[in-house]
Amino acid sequence: MTDDRPTATAAEAATKARDDCRVCGELTGAERIHIREMMFGTRASFEYRRCQACGSLSIDEIPVDLGRFYPPTYYSNDARMRVEQDPLWRRAAIRSLVGRRAFGRQGLSQRIARRVASVPDAYRVVKDIIEGAGLTTFEDPILDVGCGAMPVRLAILRKVGFRRLQGVEPFLSGDLTYQGVRVKKGELGDIEGRFRLIMFHHSLEHVTDPLATLRQVAARLAPDGRCLIRTPIADGYFWRTYGTDWVELDAPRHIALFSRVGLERLARRAGLEVAGLAWESGAWEFVASEQYRRDIAMYEPGSWFVDRAGGAFDEDHLREYKAEARRRVEEGDAGRAAIWLRRARAGEAA
Ligand SMILES: [Zn+2]
Repeated sequence: MTDDRPTATAAEAATKARDDCRVCGELTGAERIHIREMMFGTRASFEYRRCQACGSLSIDEIPVDLGRFYPPTYYSNDARMRVEQDPLWRRAAIRSLVGRRAFGRQGLSQRIARRVASVPDAYRVVKDIIEGAGLTTFEDPILDVGCGAMPVRLAILRKVGFRRLQGVEPFLSGDLTYQGVRVKKGELGDIEGRFRLIMFHHSLEHVTDPLATLRQVAARLAPDGRCLIRTPIADGYFWRTYGTDWVELDAPRHIALFSRVGLERLARRAGLEVAGLAWESGAWEFVASEQYRRDIAMYEPGSWFVDRAGGAFDEDHLREYKAEARRRVEEGDAGRAAIWLRRARAGEAA
């Protein structure tokens, strides 16, 4: 921030360095660390604080030109999964079968399951979401916050039968429709209505004020609603192993990296509570963190993510990383997790 700026607006004030933890709100001291931008390899250094009360990490000062760090090549502008469009008759069949599987009292008969062997492909991608949220009908409204320009999960939910789907994403040139799913350019605060499910797939760590965002979630959740947050977990195995080379730190795009305790406290402050947690991690987290340790950015020549054959990782490495990631998940100490939140019971909100 320069001194010649006029009086700061509320939004600008939020970008200033602060003394309290963005996650738990405590004023206890923080360890200062420096993290480099290594996705695009600018290697610009950003100061983060590690809260001594909750172990969460947060950037000290949010860059005023944050949009600059989301160039058109940023992954949220790319579809990472392909969503096949089906003819009408097949869509109706999928909807009927998924409806029975997801909401029915009984599973599919073996005979029917065999006849639609390809249907579960799409269903499998969203099965944990449907079951975790306890969705009961295709009319349950679902919101994906920070869904990117190509919200594949919403597209798959639509493919299997859901209809009341909405995405919201700040880094767009305008509102758009992706495979029948409406995506609004904006923030959660721009969205009206109540939702049975509000999802953050690796987007909550990007928001400038996670507490304000979760309070907006609480205001928009149906009474029996669920909020799904998939995010890195700051105080786990990868942080201990790789420190500032851990790929998930992703400075300066990740404004806050939540510890488990930090996320629980943040939820409480917003009138929510943790209803469940499932660990997730993959081999790529090892590959990328090993590369950062060797000063190889994610998207530059020599990176496995640019040229798999030319990278320093062969099939044996990948098998080893995959097995280690699976062990971490089983032991409940991995790099990222899916956390389910619900509204805190009356009188318990902090
Ligand atoms: Zn904290």
